[in-house]
Amino acid sequence: MRATILIGLLAGAAAMVPALAGAVTTPGDIQPDPAHLKADIAALVRFGTRSSLSDATSRTQGIGAARAWARAQFEADSAACNGCLTLMTPQVVTTGKRIPSPTVFQDVLAIQKGDTDPDRVVIISGHIDSRVSHILDATSPAPGADDDGSGVAAVLESARLLSRHRFHATIIYAVLSGEEQGLIGGGVLADVAKAMGWRVEAVLNNDIVGNTHGLDGRVVDDQVRVFSEGVRADETAAMAAERRRSGTENDAPSRELSRYMAGVAAADMPGFAVRQIFRADRFGRGGDQSPMQAAGFPAVRVTEADENYTRQHQDLRTENGVAYGDVLSGVDFAYLARVTRLDALTLAALADAPPPPAEVRIAGAVTADTTLSWTAAPGASGYRVWWRETTAPAWTQSRDAGDAYKLTLTGINIDDYVFGVAAVGEGGLSSPVEVSGSVGAFFPPPRNGADGGIPQRSN
Ligand SMILES: [Zn+2]
Repeated sequence: MRATILIGLLAGAAAMVPALAGAVTTPGDIQPDPAHLKADIAALVRFGTRSSLSDATSRTQGIGAARAWARAQFEADSAACNGCLTLMTPQVVTTGKRIPSPTVFQDVLAIQKGDTDPDRVVIISGHIDSRVSHILDATSPAPGADDDGSGVAAVLESARLLSRHRFHATIIYAVLSGEEQGLIGGGVLADVAKAMGWRVEAVLNNDIVGNTHGLDGRVVDDQVRVFSEGVRADETAAMAAERRRSGTENDAPSRELSRYMAGVAAADMPGFAVRQIFRADRFGRGGDQSPMQAAGFPAVRVTEADENYTRQHQDLRTENGVAYGDVLSGVDFAYLARVTRLDALTLAALADAPPPPAEVRIAGAVTADTTLSWTAAPGASGYRVWWRETTAPAWTQSRDAGDAYKLTLTGINIDDYVFGVAAVGEGGLSSPVEVSGSVGAFFPPPRNGADGGIPQRSN
């Protein structure tokens, strides 16, 4: 049962923020430090266990001390940027199948307000809680170095790096609680986002992002998996009908976000690639991106290329010569720095670029041509229409529309391709691509029964 979310505002001095950098951040500015990442995870491991059911009052051990430490990291970052981060600690007190008695679950959020489009929000998240073999074990050592110390370290290092710059949109660095107890902190974040009216463009949920040694002995340090949903979790019956008519089952905003991250890696990270996985999470599983998707927000899960299950959710022990446990030595910090760089570059690009255009429409059935139209994206200097084969994973062809709100692709048949449009801003930075109608909308209009997509045809 969920109690009322308490939203705590801890600090904030946005009016004092000086201009620290140009509006468009260059990729070379963003270089995560493996030593920072290692120090952060080592600090998290020193709390003994970060089980959500552990001691929340000690200053040195348990989940409460860990959360206070995360808060202190953000406070230090904020002090270094003249108060550019506002801290928020929303919490819920709840019980459940994996929560035998009422327990406080508190997220620690640092908010870096955008300068021209502050209501638009991009989020990076990781979960601070850890676990061992038994989910109710609140006292055994649970280092959680990779799951999810690695994700929290990626969040903290992103905050450290990006808080030195200013962006058009707001960036939120989210240290979540209670993932292992049932995605509690992701639910708190979704509730806060709705209550605050944030226009969430992206959630990059980093969970298990630091190990390179797979169970099969392989070492994979040149790619990271990004999981996305092709059909939005908040789909209504009307949206499902529209999706079937338009054939856009591979084009939820979450999937476009995955394609965008793959593009960032391809453009700015030679030797490192996104392996896009076209499902919402690992098979049959979920993460803190799930409650965000359920709330209608575009969200992906970022996870290392080859997981090692002897290092996750395990009591520390050696059995038949195999060492079990999620310990610091199982994290490859150079690899984690690459994943963090991908996260930070993606956040910076999204926050510097305009949002995707709104109200994307498509027409052209039973004609030789295809026409896309849209409404203005704030801050956009132009628009680019994209299309691809229906079987292609990535956008392959594009045409510049200038600053028009409409483009006709002569002789390109609407039946044979998927189409979308992106907004382009200063420095050529692009938004993600958005396909037509409510199926593809990054920022869906309030639900009042209106169907913004293609008209149904009887022929
Ligand atoms: Zn996890």
